[in-house]
Amino acid sequence: MARLARPLERLAQRYDVVVVGSGYGGGVAASRLARAGKRVCVLERGREFLTGEFPSRFPEMRGEMQVSGKRMSFGKPTALYDVRLGEDMHVLVACGLGGGSLVNAGVALRPDARVFRDGAWPGQLAQDGLLDEGYARAARWLRPAQHARAGEMTKFRALASAGAALGATPVTPPVAVSFEPGINAAGIAQPGCTLCGDCCGGCNVGAKNTVALTYLPDAVRHGAEIFTEVRARHVERKADGGWLVAVERLAPGTRSEPTELTIEAPMVILAAGTLGSTEILLRSRERGLALSDRVGRRFSANGDIIAFGYGAKLPVNAIGVGHPAKIAGHEVGAAVTGQIDIHDKDDLANEMHIQEGALPSSFAPVLPVMFVPNGRLLGALSALVNGVYKGPLASLQTFFAVSHDSASGRFGLDDGRLELSWPGAKDEPVYQRLDRALSALVGKAGGSYVKNPLAGSVMGHQPATAHPLGGAGMGRECTDGVVDHKGRVFDARAGAGSTDVHDGLYVLDGAAIPRSLGVNPLLTITALAERAMIHMARDKGLAFDDAPRWGGVPATPERPVG
Ligand SMILES: Cc1cc2nc3c(=O)[nH]c(=O)nc-3n(C[C@H](O)[C@H](O)[C@H](O)COP(=O)(O)OP(=O)(O)OC[C@H]3O[C@@H](n4cnc5c(N)ncnc54)[C@H](O)[C@@H]3O)c2cc1C
Ligand code: SF4
Repeated sequence: MARLARPLERLAQRYDVVVVGSGYGGGVAASRLARAGKRVCVLERGREFLTGEFPSRFPEMRGEMQVSGKRMSFGKPTALYDVRLGEDMHVLVACGLGGGSLVNAGVALRPDARVFRDGAWPGQLAQDGLLDEGYARAARWLRPAQHARAGEMTKFRALASAGAALGATPVTPPVAVSFEPGINAAGIAQPGCTLCGDCCGGCNVGAKNTVALTYLPDAVRHGAEIFTEVRARHVERKADGGWLVAVERLAPGTRSEPTELTIEAPMVILAAGTLGSTEILLRSRERGLALSDRVGRRFSANGDIIAFGYGAKLPVNAIGVGHPAKIAGHEVGAAVTGQIDIHDKDDLANEMHIQEGALPSSFAPVLPVMFVPNGRLLGALSALVNGVYKGPLASLQTFFAVSHDSASGRFGLDDGRLELSWPGAKDEPVYQRLDRALSALVGKAGGSYVKNPLAGSVMGHQPATAHPLGGAGMGRECTDGVVDHKGRVFDARAGAGSTDVHDGLYVLDGAAIPRSLGVNPLLTITALAERAMIHMARDKGLAFDDAPRWGGVPATPERPVG
């Protein structure tokens, strides 16, 4: 596939729509608005990675880490993995064209129906039936599928035998992966998954159904213009009612190119992810934009952790082999093939999903150092004898676990930098529940539970999440939310209880989710963005459909009403 991004020299001064960020929310908005005939510009701070360009060796992987915190910062601002070290919690997000879809495991689940009955959501969300349509569209484009042979994967079997500790049998969750070759909804040929296990390092096969292979090429096909290595700083309302987006150039430029630019548009979609969109709103408020005082509040980590079991009796084979495969004859499976569901019909907070995961092959050289006594020596040897695939690390279990938390984190700006504060985070009951369940699973497998192999390093003992949600949560009106159920940003000028919105300013990403989902969030973020686009089409008289370019799946047309 040809590159989607254009050189920055071709950036115009004005567009109909500026979309900030290119993950799930940004991809949906760019595709639908381009289909509606709008002149769309997508701004992404990260770089574009074509299939085959994801880091496959540790030195490349190290160069794709950006780490920032109060005490230390290193790495390029465009590096693929963006680790925010917090005083109370760490957060991992992706940075690149396609957002989190580039490095996630692709698990695509719909939350328990009780999640949407919670008063944290504006009531309209459940009332108009469009949420179901949003999920249907998200599924048409991301094509979550269950791997038919998942049960044959060693890591699935290891989970099945450990599951007895919890009286549970694993199921195979749907993942946004093409297990068979085919043409996707954007008309792009994708090869079938090779079961290399490297999903969280970036799919070098092209089988993961990322935003970069679905919504974004569809947007470009309909005329959208994409620019990478540009970061939006803030938005300002112009006197004529339109919007001005202040952006900075992250790529090293020539002398004649300014590093700061402004772009104008009557419509701006913030889709820079939970951290990015919240930061832009906080900065915009500092510059006078009238926003709800809920901006930055109700941050949730989605009760999400990554944890490990070391020393299991049976082999697990949960370290990716990459593509081309670093070792022959190893089928790892997609990053997640099995999941144990723990249900509680009386208390939603106790629901949890424990998934067996695979670490990307590029991390293999550091795993001995992290897990094995005398691991430095083994680490050196492993390069020669593929020790991580055949030695003690062949029984390393990786778990991704998701549940519910109280969404009590809060973002603020400290010297212009986004800061997360959640003093009680590590005492949230969810972490004890997850620890108990994971210890039982690992114990049954004959191993030891390793909650955080980097505890004692700069990571400390704080929890970490890869599912940040909230910061610009939905609400009924300006005093209980930052955006309404359509993603429109409340205008605080009319005071308490007002439902007035800033015309043309939207948040369509994980930031708008006001509570934990209890399942991996990508499908819901995509569904909410699809739903918001249906409303926007009705409110603004736009016409577009979501017809896949190939595949004959019936599409739902969007037509102006009234
Ligand atoms: C390792 C890992 C594994 C995961 N596994 C799963 C999984 O299996 N299933 C699941 O559902 N979820 C998973 N997630 C989480 C999921 O990927 C995210 O919830 C999802 O990507 C969030 O979508 P989004 O649209 O809100 O934002 P993102 O996908 O985060 O996209 C936001 C984009 O905006 C860009 N951006 C940020 N700030 C700016 C700015 N100022 N200017 C311009 N661009 C900006 C970012 O670089 C990014 O590309 C995982 C995440 C990680 C990191
Ligand atoms: S297992 Fe390998 S080929 Fe399959 S989706 Fe993941 S990275 Fe791509």
